[in-house]
Amino acid sequence: MQIHDMKNYINGEWVEPKDGRYLDVENPATGKVIGRAPLSSGADVHAAVKAAAGAYKGWSTTPVPRRAEFLYSLVERLKKDEERLSRILTEEMGKSLADSRAELKRVYQNIEAACGVPILQNGEKMVGTAQAIDGEILRLPKGVFAAITPFNFPAMAPFWFVPYAIATGNTFILKPSELVPFTVEALAEHVHEIGLPAGVFNVVTGEKGAAVSLVENPDVSGVSFVGKTATCKVVSANCVAHGKRYQAMGSAKNHLVVMPDYVRIDELIRNMSTSCFGCAGQRCMASSVIVAVGDEMYRRVCERFIEDSKHFLVANPLDPAVENEPMLMGPVITKSALDFIHRTIEKGISEGATLSLDGRGIRVDGSEGGYYIGPTVFTDVRPGMEIHRTEIFAPVVSIMKTESLDEAIGIINGHQYSNACSIYTRSGYWARKFKLEAHPGMIGVNVGIPAPVPFLPFGGAGNSMLCDIKMQGKSAIAFYTEEKVIVERFWEE
Ligand code: NAD
Repeated sequence: MQIHDMKNYINGEWVEPKDGRYLDVENPATGKVIGRAPLSSGADVHAAVKAAAGAYKGWSTTPVPRRAEFLYSLVERLKKDEERLSRILTEEMGKSLADSRAELKRVYQNIEAACGVPILQNGEKMVGTAQAIDGEILRLPKGVFAAITPFNFPAMAPFWFVPYAIATGNTFILKPSELVPFTVEALAEHVHEIGLPAGVFNVVTGEKGAAVSLVENPDVSGVSFVGKTATCKVVSANCVAHGKRYQAMGSAKNHLVVMPDYVRIDELIRNMSTSCFGCAGQRCMASSVIVAVGDEMYRRVCERFIEDSKHFLVANPLDPAVENEPMLMGPVITKSALDFIHRTIEKGISEGATLSLDGRGIRVDGSEGGYYIGPTVFTDVRPGMEIHRTEIFAPVVSIMKTESLDEAIGIINGHQYSNACSIYTRSGYWARKFKLEAHPGMIGVNVGIPAPVPFLPFGGAGNSMLCDIKMQGKSAIAFYTEEKVIVERFWEE
């Protein structure tokens, strides 16, 4: 099999890493190496930052509508290449082709939102803040920005940042997850084709070393990070130590609360299983805890959810025989992720939860080396058990019972992660109480995945978002611009 060798994209050119080191990239559906990407060193990062800093003056003074024009061309090109991009994404990440196509749609929407930059980046002026004095707010680009992104959204996570950073006149360096660099390579090829000035957009691949070099480089003004909360904490502290503006989005454990008045049980089960098992549970917006309020709803949810979970087809998502199956679930990302999932399931059993559906030991014919686990459901789960406390990032669901909405909100608010949560109810009173009292940063009402579209801010709270400015839309414009305030007076000559 032909092994694909990726290069870094620096100053408008594809270049090899300076010390010639590479990392293998696997297809998690087969466990086979599909290519290599640079294990970039500080020298490679330095070259990328130098290119981005060099391009800054010209790019930041390029008229705003002209900057938007590049993004219009980019989105046109990406849409035409959707099928090829989806397959590259699926091959390295393992999600179904339907999930990859859906992810690319979010990429387009983020670019389209950033195309609104001629309005979004408008300043403000107040005439007469004092006698003959006016006040003005300018939103100016800031310099070189970087993003360090996770494996689970190889295309969307980088594009929570790239379009807004560039549209507002900054230059950019992306360090994608070392597990999924090829989607970014394919996207960067399109960026190259739209003819952006060299150095405006750069890609360096690699592990922690490259990421740390980016954060610590004095010519980088700001860093956006998405990944585990443990990594977020290290990156945030390092950003503070090096005087960077930063965003840091971390781990999640999202709860779905089902109230006793909810009657659309078929829709409920479909909605919840899509949330829990889509992308093999490896979405930051995936739900992994169901809280049923009342004995009767707990009984019904357990019975129906477990039954429905058995209908997922666990398979290699690029197997032509099944690739269009609607309930298709691919592998998890690595062997070590699968080992961690198995260990956590064992812990759940030893802590006394009931393993009502066991997805371990699945064999996918023709893809025996892949990292598969089927839908796994624990019932009788209590708050604080390891399976409830930990982000497993897998198709492993805990079902709990409470006597009241207050108790359910208490479980959510007592959890270490506060990314998102949802309530299913017909009662406006319960929905309002949930919206106001549950801590997570993104709340759903009768929606299993309350992921905001790119025109709205995206981000959790607490340990799931260790920063102040969210991603997407107007928040992204705020992050990528310097709000400079002018107070001015002129005398009559
Ligand atoms: P990860 O933390 O292992 O890696 C993320 C990135 O950080 C990678 O590019 C990695 O190379 C880099 N990195 C590793 N150590 C670093 C260090 N010391 N300094 C700087 N960078 C470092 O995360 P992952 O496993 O790739 O992604 C999954 C996690 O991301 C899950 O916890 C998931 O919930 C979270 N996530 C959160 C959101 C959100 O919006 N909150 C979105 C997507 C994913």
